[in-house]
Amino acid sequence: MTTISKSNYLLYRECKKNVWLKIYRPDIYKEQSKLSEFEEAIIETGNEVELLARKLFPTGILIEGIGEKAQELTQQYIDKKESILFQPIFVKSDFLAAVDVLEYDKQIGGYIISEIKATNQIKEKKHFYDLAFQVNLLRKLDLDVKKIKIMHLNSEYTRSGELDLKNLFLIEDVTESVEKIVDEVNEEMDMALEYLSSDIEPEGPCSCLYKSRNNHCPTFCYSNPCVPKYSIHDIARIGNSKKKIQQLVDANIFCIDEIPEDIKLTDIQRNQVESFVFDKIMVEKESIARELENLIFPLYFLDYETCPTAVPRFDSYSPYQQIPFQYSLHKLVAPIRQDQGVLAKLEHFEFLHTKPSDPSRALAETLQEHIGNVGTIIVWNKKFECKMNKELAERLPEFKLFMESINSRIYDLMDIFSKQHYVHKDFKGSTSIKRVLPVLAPELSYKDLCIQEGGTASQSWDKIALNSIPKEEKDKITKDLLAYCKLDTYAMYAIWRKINNLLIK
Ligand code: SF4
Repeated sequence: MTTISKSNYLLYRECKKNVWLKIYRPDIYKEQSKLSEFEEAIIETGNEVELLARKLFPTGILIEGIGEKAQELTQQYIDKKESILFQPIFVKSDFLAAVDVLEYDKQIGGYIISEIKATNQIKEKKHFYDLAFQVNLLRKLDLDVKKIKIMHLNSEYTRSGELDLKNLFLIEDVTESVEKIVDEVNEEMDMALEYLSSDIEPEGPCSCLYKSRNNHCPTFCYSNPCVPKYSIHDIARIGNSKKKIQQLVDANIFCIDEIPEDIKLTDIQRNQVESFVFDKIMVEKESIARELENLIFPLYFLDYETCPTAVPRFDSYSPYQQIPFQYSLHKLVAPIRQDQGVLAKLEHFEFLHTKPSDPSRALAETLQEHIGNVGTIIVWNKKFECKMNKELAERLPEFKLFMESINSRIYDLMDIFSKQHYVHKDFKGSTSIKRVLPVLAPELSYKDLCIQEGGTASQSWDKIALNSIPKEEKDKITKDLLAYCKLDTYAMYAIWRKINNLLIK
């Protein structure tokens, strides 16, 4: 008989088969579900938030571990009616759960359970079921749960000086909402137990066959070997049309080149499919020319690296607000006239904050030195850069005009690809620079870099700016961060140049 933990029950709610694989085929599950550095950081964030939340209960006692000792210790404290426990562990009828904060309230003659969440909002479908599982388990042990609460981060909180824990957290009484689903969850817990007690691998197709790629769990390939790695699930926005995907899956069509003519696709989807099926590159030169003719020299290619922290580290930041800690900037002074043998000079500027303080002011000052009053600022996905500039202006009102000027001069190079003026089969429906670069400038690659994506860059900055690590390691990470961000802006320049050359030929 297997024991169902709270986290496995929650996974069961998402997908029975996936959690079955986790329990009975950990070889497959672990192989497919390896956590990235970024995902590990999310777990660490949860731990950091929990440690802070506990400070609101100064007399609380922490129970460590989940084994027999921890269970015995929990029981001893329960018998003594100890008022506040962190992570007491309960096991009954093959269910197991730890409670974030368990309070015995003499006045109400029962228990209050509080779940600590490192999120800005309550996610009802997950958090309420998480709590209902705990309530059922505690009641199976005859503990009288009277109140149910969720403590989560307060997105309205802005740090000013020392952390104000009472304002950093919002404590919401969710007793009524959770009580409404307690019976339903009790039944579901029994069903989960029955399902997960069988060591016979569940048969039948995955319901995810009817969902787009980003909804698939990491074991999708194992469970659906008939589906190619690049399949109908990768068609842009296919998840928005349940009917379309159902039609294809029910007809056993998974390969993009098997999609029948009469399936109604949007223009964007049709272009993606046709570029793959006929191995053709679609280029709308006139539309590209219209996009690029408004760019004003000098051209600046700009990219920020940022780090979101659940708990605001510096003044004027709110939970999960991004800290901009680095930028790379390439500047092309004048048009390249290859036909006349003139190659304009490409200059590079960069900024990386390596101190344990808010980088905002130093970043804004340096950027102001590097970016002149004239010229288009080219970015990839302007929503993000514009938002960063807006937030910088809010933190540093004296830079408001400068940041507004930058935002008014921004051009999003990604538009060429999201508007489908250029479509290549190897973009596979994506407009990410990581997909576009290998096609348009295959001589450039992120593969040889130690840092290859933004999540790792953010974690790496955390290490050098906040942790005391040996100088050698710090120097290495600094070098890696500079190389990564530099490639981001050089990649934009190289893509712009390739696109621009198409117009000259
Ligand atoms: S692919 Fe979907 S249905 Fe299949 S195991 Fe994963 S989550 Fe479950």
